[in-house]
Amino acid sequence: LGESTMLRVENLHAGYGASEVLSGASFEVRTGSVVALIGANGAGKTTAMRVLSGMLKPSKGKVLLDGKEVQHLGASRISRLGLAHSPEGRKIFAPLSVEDNLLLGAYTRLPKVFGFASKAGADLEKVYALFPRLHERRKQAAGTLSGGEQQMLAIGRALMANPKIILLDEPSMGLAPVIVQEVFVIINKLKEAGITMLLVEQFAKSALEVADYAYVLEHGRIAVEGTPEELAKNERVLAAYLG
Ligand code: ATP
Repeated sequence: LGESTMLRVENLHAGYGASEVLSGASFEVRTGSVVALIGANGAGKTTAMRVLSGMLKPSKGKVLLDGKEVQHLGASRISRLGLAHSPEGRKIFAPLSVEDNLLLGAYTRLPKVFGFASKAGADLEKVYALFPRLHERRKQAAGTLSGGEQQMLAIGRALMANPKIILLDEPSMGLAPVIVQEVFVIINKLKEAGITMLLVEQFAKSALEVADYAYVLEHGRIAVEGTPEELAKNERVLAAYLG
């Protein structure tokens, strides 16, 4: 009771040309919770993230962000409504400094907020408090950061938009196991700070450790859902994703 839904996806269909990748996926993220979306390589997790952030139009279905239908809106509009996306592969701007990359994350507020520079400054301080390493390296070209530092930067940049919900797409991708642990420490910190997150992971174990609830995407729809405890008892999930 009293819990609200920050993101609700209903009967989502989407794909590329004639090939349908999502065929009726439905899931939701409650305000203040961390939800994991897991699934094998090619299951459509990234495709779902693209639809949620407005980069790909669904052929059918609804996406409700904080109660408002957004599936027909463009990416910049959705971002201004409070959804930030830390994409797979991180997509940082390699030649720009760490700090300029962070400031780019705040640009969506430009049209709305007159005191942009000072407000962004305050958010920079918040991000630096969370990631002291980024503060140390704020003048360094982002492309010269280590993989783990680049992932911190991608998450920090998403936070700069002061979002209502963050989508984290495969934050562990390409990182050494010890760095993956570091990234999950950060995700835990964000969770403690009450930030609502949808976390996409191919490797389910770490995701289930931090998540409040999880969905398994198979063949374009949700095959299994439950709390991490429930999924850990599910034979099929155990064999396929936690083995
Ligand atoms: P991974 O963990 O490997 O990233 P995923 O669950 O995120 O997998 P998607 O990236 O959503 O999967 O891909 C789902 C399917 O859609 C795959 O078969 C992929 O080849 C296909 N696909 C993805 N992007 C495109 C594109 N731009 N054009 C055509 N097909 C695509």
